[in-house]
Amino acid sequence: TDMSVREILHVGHPLLRERSVEVPPGDIRTSAVQSLIDDLIDTMRAANGAGIASPQIGEMFRITTIEVNDNPRYPYKPRIPLTVVINPVVEFLDDELVEVNEGCLSVPNMRGNVMRHVNIRVRFLDRDGNEHDEVKRGLTAGTFQHEIDHLDGFLFLDRVHDTRSLTTWEQFERHHRAAFVERITEFVARVENSPEATEVHSGVPADLLRRAARRYASAPNAAIYYGLGVTE
Ligand code: ZN
Repeated sequence: TDMSVREILHVGHPLLRERSVEVPPGDIRTSAVQSLIDDLIDTMRAANGAGIASPQIGEMFRITTIEVNDNPRYPYKPRIPLTVVINPVVEFLDDELVEVNEGCLSVPNMRGNVMRHVNIRVRFLDRDGNEHDEVKRGLTAGTFQHEIDHLDGFLFLDRVHDTRSLTTWEQFERHHRAAFVERITEFVARVENSPEATEVHSGVPADLLRRAARRYASAPNAAIYYGLGVTE
């Protein structure tokens, strides 16, 4: 099979700041849309990303692909099977937020802490046009929020609540990774490995949560997200 790895646009490119358009459901099975989906998967895998959104390769459609395989570098990040997400609609199920460390394929060598919703409902179509209505939690919910943010022209940089958390990859590994992994591993165990658990907390001060909530309120349609040692 032939691979088609596309160029990934970087922050500063105007298309990353535009809202993408919905794919008419009747068009999903066309060769144009199917090959765009194949390109997204190939490009995501080639870049070792956990996800990629269509505008990141300059195609302004509401399509994103997500996949997290076992990765010994990020043992705390739950797996996500290859998922093709078309025309997603996100609903936050409650006010629970978690602070996560994110990176992005469109923001080379930069990471930062953002607030993400812990429990979301996402409705979308897959590449066969089948409807999905699913609940995502924890880091997986974060990944969906990050990718869907791209479809509305948002980058994780817009969600960084404290710019002092910004780091290069090297500095993250050297100075921040250990503490982050310790905190997030406990979070994952609580939230994702035992979804029935009701006691979820982010360990984040209340004023920070309120500020983060206001940011979400200013982007009503929005989704949003994070990444953990992996980059979306
Ligand atoms: Zn991204």
